[in-house]
Amino acid sequence: MPELPEVEIVRQSLNKKIQQKKVKKVIVRNRNLRIQIPNDFKKVLENKIIHKVSRFSKYLIIFLSNNKFCLIHLGMSGTIHLLDLKNKKDTTNLSFYNSPFLPKKHNHVEIIFDNFRIIYNDPRRFGFFQIIKNYKDLKKRFIHLGPEPFNNNFNLKYFLQFKKDKNRTIKDLLIDQKFVSGIGNIYASEILFLSKVNPQKKIKLLTSKQCIQIISNSRKVLSNAIDKGGSSIRDFKNTNGIKGGYQDSFRVYQREGMNCKRQNCTGKIKKKVITNRSTFFCDFCQK
Ligand SMILES: [Zn+2]
Repeated sequence: MPELPEVEIVRQSLNKKIQQKKVKKVIVRNRNLRIQIPNDFKKVLENKIIHKVSRFSKYLIIFLSNNKFCLIHLGMSGTIHLLDLKNKKDTTNLSFYNSPFLPKKHNHVEIIFDNFRIIYNDPRRFGFFQIIKNYKDLKKRFIHLGPEPFNNNFNLKYFLQFKKDKNRTIKDLLIDQKFVSGIGNIYASEILFLSKVNPQKKIKLLTSKQCIQIISNSRKVLSNAIDKGGSSIRDFKNTNGIKGGYQDSFRVYQREGMNCKRQNCTGKIKKKVITNRSTFFCDFCQK
């Protein structure tokens, strides 16, 4: 499932390609995504210029010249492919997960520009498109979500307000989008490892120092993942496949039974299901 860094990589590549370009035509092949694509979707996008592609948490936000916005959420398995009419041999996937080339099936939405087209592929259809009619509604759309880790409002004072929720574990809190936006299962494990905090620890027992560690490591882990993803995207054209990339730098995620990567730690990585999600940690150095 794409998390904040993956969506940011898609945003960067998409923005580079479609900013200031005019949408010529839109084809909707299947309206039945998680939210049904509205009937006026084509009309809202066609003949409009894309001002920019922005992002909040895991939502891509396309700013249109009619002052409306098109949100795209990639859900569990959504990918955006770029088909360049001049450059047919290149990989098409703007993300570094799933197939590097456009699959034959599940191409639900196509947005056509002058020399290229953007295609939305989503086998499981948990992703969606949504039209937001003005800036006020855009703000309202995200009001239920917490700040992103990079935001200054994600600080110790803010964190401490959530400590009232006594019996909750830190892992559970960290993946709650109302607390902080954009941290999913993969990065929560990595953040807690770097912070030397056991994911099963009750939040009421966290010291202020640990809270500060978690805040700063959230920023560190996500920006590292964005940097790594960026470089793997750039490598795409040379290596012709998904090689390298950010997963090589995982310290705990999907490393069950392997040696802890922390220097001088003799622990092995454990896997445990917390809030229905697999969590990876070292119970030697994460207390
Ligand atoms: Zn360890």
